Amino acid sequence: MYGTQRVYRTQEKLSYRVFMLSLSFLVWSMWVKSGLPLFTQLSSAHEPIDGRFPPLSGLVIAIDPGHGGIDGGAVGYGGLIEKNLTLSIALKLRDYLQQAGAVVIMTREKDDMLSDGGGGTRKQRDMRARMKIINQPGVNLAISIHLNSIPSPRWHGAETFYHPERQDAKALAEHIQKRLKAHVFTDRAIKSGQDLFILRMMEPVGVLVEAGYLSHPEEARKLADPVYQSLVAYAIYEGILDFWQTHDDEMRKPQDVP
Ligand SMILES: [Zn+2]
Repeated sequence: MYGTQRVYRTQEKLSYRVFMLSLSFLVWSMWVKSGLPLFTQLSSAHEPIDGRFPPLSGLVIAIDPGHGGIDGGAVGYGGLIEKNLTLSIALKLRDYLQQAGAVVIMTREKDDMLSDGGGGTRKQRDMRARMKIINQPGVNLAISIHLNSIPSPRWHGAETFYHPERQDAKALAEHIQKRLKAHVFTDRAIKSGQDLFILRMMEPVGVLVEAGYLSHPEEARKLADPVYQSLVAYAIYEGILDFWQTHDDEMRKPQDVP
């Protein structure tokens, strides 16, 4: 019984090999006749598709997910921690931007606190390290993502902050807030954030988005939902797109013009 099976198996293996060999030959001869290259190069987001560049091609964007590591940021309903939600929204925003051809630099991609190795408090070292990443040469635009929390559960809605001395940042904030209104139904207006360290220190055009209030029970529940996080990220992405399409002439470096 065993011996017969082995003979069958050897015959099966042999005919299988002959079959695969002739199949390979058939494919090879068809390929030779077709004259096609063996490997077709996959198109990258930075190459023109049908002669057109992706909408954010040439733009370098820094995304800063607020807090991280031992700095959790605000704590909201149901024990939600700001640092986790800022990172989730930031990673979704990164994906939208990269798909549109932008080069994205993240201040953090993990649950980490940063440090520039200098003096001061842990928070100061973290903030300086973030500014170093955001202010490095070549970065055109920056988005810092946070979530709000106040003692009262009444307030809700996403809002975008800009530095009052930066007209370019104000325009970016307006575009983002308009899209946030459309996608996540906030009734809030843009806000001037003179005292926010990150906006004061930011060299590229940039804003800080407070994506909602963790102190509002209903909004906190929504902010924890990945679909809602995608909507927030998409709104920010569209705001950047609107801004870039209306302001790209003054921002685009000469060597980037296709
Ligand atoms: Zn924060």
